[in-house]
Amino acid sequence: MEQLLALLKKFFGYTSFRPLQAEIIQHILLKKDSLVLMPTGGGKSICYQLPAIYLPGITLVISPLIALMKDQVEGLIANGVPAASLNSMISESEQQQVKQLCVQGKIKLLYISPERVKAEADWFLPRLDVSLIAIDEAHCISHWGHDFRPEYTQLAILKERFPKVPFIALTATADKVTRTDIVAQLRLNDPKIFISSFDRPNLSLTVRRGLNQREKIRVMVHFIRQHQGQSGIIYCLRRSTTEMLVDELGKYAIRAGAYHAGLSPQEREKAQDDFINDRVEVVCATVAFGMGIDKSNIRWVIHFNMPGSIENYYQEIGRAGRDGAKSDTLLFYSLADLIVLRQFAEESGQQEVNLEKLNRMQRYCETDICRRRILLSYFGEEVDKDCGNCDVCLNPPERFDGSVLVQKALSAVIRTNQQVAIDMLIYILRGSARVDLTEKGYHHIKTYGAGRDVPYLEWKEYIYQMIQLGFLEVDYANGNKLKVTSLGNKVLYGQSKALLTKYRPTEKDTKLSRGKVAEEKAAKTRSAYSLQTQADEQLWNALKQLRYQLAEKEKTPAYIIFTDAALEDMVELKPTTMEEFAQVRGVGQIKLEKYGRTFISLIRFVLKMPKLKE
Ligand code: ADP
Ligand code: ZN
Repeated sequence: MEQLLALLKKFFGYTSFRPLQAEIIQHILLKKDSLVLMPTGGGKSICYQLPAIYLPGITLVISPLIALMKDQVEGLIANGVPAASLNSMISESEQQQVKQLCVQGKIKLLYISPERVKAEADWFLPRLDVSLIAIDEAHCISHWGHDFRPEYTQLAILKERFPKVPFIALTATADKVTRTDIVAQLRLNDPKIFISSFDRPNLSLTVRRGLNQREKIRVMVHFIRQHQGQSGIIYCLRRSTTEMLVDELGKYAIRAGAYHAGLSPQEREKAQDDFINDRVEVVCATVAFGMGIDKSNIRWVIHFNMPGSIENYYQEIGRAGRDGAKSDTLLFYSLADLIVLRQFAEESGQQEVNLEKLNRMQRYCETDICRRRILLSYFGEEVDKDCGNCDVCLNPPERFDGSVLVQKALSAVIRTNQQVAIDMLIYILRGSARVDLTEKGYHHIKTYGAGRDVPYLEWKEYIYQMIQLGFLEVDYANGNKLKVTSLGNKVLYGQSKALLTKYRPTEKDTKLSRGKVAEEKAAKTRSAYSLQTQADEQLWNALKQLRYQLAEKEKTPAYIIFTDAALEDMVELKPTTMEEFAQVRGVGQIKLEKYGRTFISLIRFVLKMPKLKE
């Protein structure tokens, strides 16, 4: 164990294992098979990379994502671990070179695509001294998983060729059918199944509902300005929305790139590359984005549209904060999205399953108990504490007797013969003089203007609650017109009371100014995350700048040099000697030698200390 810990520090710069990592590694060293279920960012890679370093011979890592392979290999090499990859992106001569190094025993980890496994199973692979085989993204083997890859089904030959070598299959997808499928298809030998908690406490969870497009953009601009200089993804349902948002954000001097399946491969690659290398901080993307990237310093994820299931949602927000540092997520929930997603689900092959998944997602959005508890219980984990890092925990709902509000709304619905949707209902309640309202004569009904004292957004929130509480129903098939239910009638006629939750906007309703001036203003007022003082912020910016310059010079993504978590440690610890610098998370021997002096000099400079003596 001590030896393993020493290797962990030396090559990865970490001083302790995350939950389950040590158990998994010890199991591998006993030459036994294992199946590992860990959430994205949970630390799966160390589970096979560390034994690979410890064991003699070579470890094969099968991975379906070529882009991810490149990243992992670069990361390992930067930490002083000899690694290489074999896949279709590599030239023939390079492949020959890699193979030779492997045969000579000069490579500890070989990343290989499933297609290459098949091609090399008879000649090249048997010539190697294989000590461990890791199958990453193992759910790709199953038809039940959400990401089936036919090439994966051929991996069964590995167990035939290497019956004595321990196997480790890893995935972030947890359901039982997929699990059984993985074990059977890979012919794992009585594997031990390791399931780690799916909790990602460093991700904050927030849901905003009932906002229209303009309002969402306003909230989003505000959010992004609070996260200035940090990378983030905005997920959208439609390709056109991604491009629209890029334009809209541009008006507020926020530079963003679009990413969707309608772009050419070159355009997609450029968008991804700009994002990975911090040339663009915001990507507006459809769900196509994120599968192949391993960027560890994504600090926030926004869902401009609601996802269709909790699995998708969790996977997408999971792309933030893989380095373990604090990250924020924000989801916009609206009936309009719900209607579109319902339609998708109904038209899909698996109508029942998909509608149920959508229902669970909807309930998550509408809940007024700790959101993390709902997520974790969805993944089958028992939780007995509120998390303290979701909007419900941080802003506990305050209830009041809203019977009069409900009566006003419901009576207006009835007086229109139940012919209006949410927006028109609010216009009536607030006494708007819109033409589409007066044309229908709605200004003559008795409740016209009865809710003038309640602002538009507040009404919207309360009507959502009325739907949720079952006082109103939405006729989705018929223009989303509102209908009063029998439960609603009881409140309307004073037979029962309605407890509503107080509306509390999280942003000030100030107008956002646009352009360069706005950007500068925002920069002055923003509160940088976890940075307590101006001096810390100055140091943080200087460190980031240095990391960026080194990355440019070495032509590698900045997070390969140091993660955000490492920079945060540097700000907190302010290491001014090599010894102190070695304490920083993610600083192993190689990085200490390679970057230690440069970073220490900068820190001493910012702290106005004399130069480090030789
Ligand atoms: P995934 O499970 O998604 O493959 P990774 O293996 O990429 O996750 O790990 C996510 C992040 O956590 C990486 O930045 C990795 O370096 C870091 N990490 C992994 N193990 C540890 C550890 N024991 N201590 C600190 N950080 C760790
Ligand atoms: Zn919570």
